[in-house]
Amino acid sequence: MKIPNTISLRLALWYTLLVFLALVCFGWLILWITANETYDQQRSMLKEKTIPIAEHLDVDRGKFDKEHIEDKEQELRLHEYGIFFEVWDNKRLLFRSRNFPLDLELPPPAESDLPDIVKAENTYRYQILTEPISIYESGSKKSFPFFLRLGRSDLYVERILDRIRVLSLFLIPIAVAIAAFSGWILARRALRPVDEITRTAQNISVHSLDRRLPEPRYDDELGRLSKTFNALLERIQAGVEKIQRFSADASHELRTPLTVLHGEMEVALRKERLPKEYQRVLKSGLQEIGWMEKIVNNLLTLSRADSGQATLEIQNVDLAQLLKDSIEMNRNAAEAKKINMHLHAESIHARVDPDRIRQLFINLLDNAIKYSPGDREINVELNPHEDEAVLVFQDQGIGIPPEDLPYVFERFYRADKSRSRELHGSGLGLSICQWIVKAHHGTLEIDSEPEKGTTVTVRLPLDQEKS
Ligand code: ATP
Ligand code: MG
Repeated sequence: MKIPNTISLRLALWYTLLVFLALVCFGWLILWITANETYDQQRSMLKEKTIPIAEHLDVDRGKFDKEHIEDKEQELRLHEYGIFFEVWDNKRLLFRSRNFPLDLELPPPAESDLPDIVKAENTYRYQILTEPISIYESGSKKSFPFFLRLGRSDLYVERILDRIRVLSLFLIPIAVAIAAFSGWILARRALRPVDEITRTAQNISVHSLDRRLPEPRYDDELGRLSKTFNALLERIQAGVEKIQRFSADASHELRTPLTVLHGEMEVALRKERLPKEYQRVLKSGLQEIGWMEKIVNNLLTLSRADSGQATLEIQNVDLAQLLKDSIEMNRNAAEAKKINMHLHAESIHARVDPDRIRQLFINLLDNAIKYSPGDREINVELNPHEDEAVLVFQDQGIGIPPEDLPYVFERFYRADKSRSRELHGSGLGLSICQWIVKAHHGTLEIDSEPEKGTTVTVRLPLDQEKS
C-alpha cells in the first residue's frame, strides 16, 4: 500500500507523537508524585506507631523487660496494619515482633545508617524507620537508651502505583488513538482549501481564466492564499485579455489599408487603363503602404518596449535643439493648416536618449496639429524646474472629451474614431509617448477641454543615471 505524502498526514503524525510524549511524561510525573506522597504517609504512620510501642516497653532492674512486651504485642495489633518492629540496645537485638520477615536481617541501629527502603534477601522491599527512645525504669527516675525499629512492606504502596500503571497502560493508547484520529480529521479539514486551489489551478487554461476559487470563509492563512490566488488570476486574465484585444485591434487596423489596396488594384486590373490612372492607383497604394508601415513600426516599438528589449542610448543633448528639430519636421503639416507654432525655450542640457525624445516631441506636435482646425496657434515651452525639464505643448484644437481622457494612453484608443481614421491616426502615438517618458523616469499629463484645446505637460529628470 502506498502511503500518501500529504501535509495533513505529517501534521497528524507529529501531533500524535507529541500527544504520546506529553501523556507519557504526565503519567510518569503522576506516578512519581503518588509514590513520594504514599511513602511519606507510610513513614508518618510508622512514626505514629512508635508511641504506643514505646508505652509498652519496660525496664526491670536495669534490664530490658522482654516478657512484658511479648505479652503486650498482641494487644498493640500492629500486625493488622502489616507493621513489624524490633527493639535494640547499642549492640544487641532485644526483641523482635512475631510478624518480622524471616529473610530480613538488619545491622544494629547504632552502627548503621539505613536507607529508607531496604530490600530483603529474596522477597520484598520494606520501608524501615529507626527511632532512638529512652525508657524509664518503673519505680526509679533512671532512663535507658534503646532503638525502636519499625517496618512495613512496600507492597501497600506498590499496589496503589500498580493501579496507576495499569490505568495508564490502557488510557494512554486510547487517548493517543483519539488524538491521532482527530488530528488527522482536523488537519485534513484545515488543509482542504489547498486541495481546492490545486484542483482549480489544474483546470485553468488560457480559455478558462475566468474561473475563481470560492470566497474563503475565514481570513486566515489559507483564506488569504485563496484571495491572493484569485487576485493573481484576475491580473493574468486582464493581461491575457489585453494581449488578445491588442492583436485583434492590430489585425483590424492593418486589414483596412489592405482592403483598400486590394480593392483599388482589383478595379485597376479589370481592364486596360491609361498610364495616368495606373499612376493614381500606385500613388494611393503607396499611401496605404506608408500607413501600414507606420502602424507596424509603432507596434514594433511597443512590443520591444513590452519585452524590455528597447534600450535607451543616453547622451548629453540640448532639449531646446531637439524641440526645434521636431518643430521643423512638423512644419509642413502645420503650414498646410495655417497653424503657427511658437517655441519659448531656453537651452537645457539633459542626459536622455535623443532619438526617443525626438519621437516623443514629434508625436505630441503631430497630435497638436492633427487635432486643431486651421488658423490656430500651438505654443511650446521648455523651462527648467529644480532638477527637471518641464515641457508644455499647448494647442487650441478640438480637445478631448472628459470621458475619453482616461483612455487616451491605451493602445489603439482614439477619442473620435471616424475623424481619427481620416486624420491617419492609429491610436498608438500616446502609448509610445508614455513609454518613452516612463523609460526616462519622467511624467506625462494631459489637460484638455473640448473645443478649447489641449495641454500636455512632460517632466523629464535632467540626469537619467541619477534618477
Ligand atoms: P497616432 O498617434 O498613432 O498616429 P492618434 O493620434 O490617433 O494616432 P494618439 O496619439 O495615441 O493616437 O492619441 C489618442 C487619441 O487622443 C487621439 O485619437 C485623439 O482622439 C486624442 N488626442 C490626442 N492628442 C490630442 C490633442 N492634442 N487634441 C485633441 N485630441 C487629442
Ligand atoms: Mg498621435
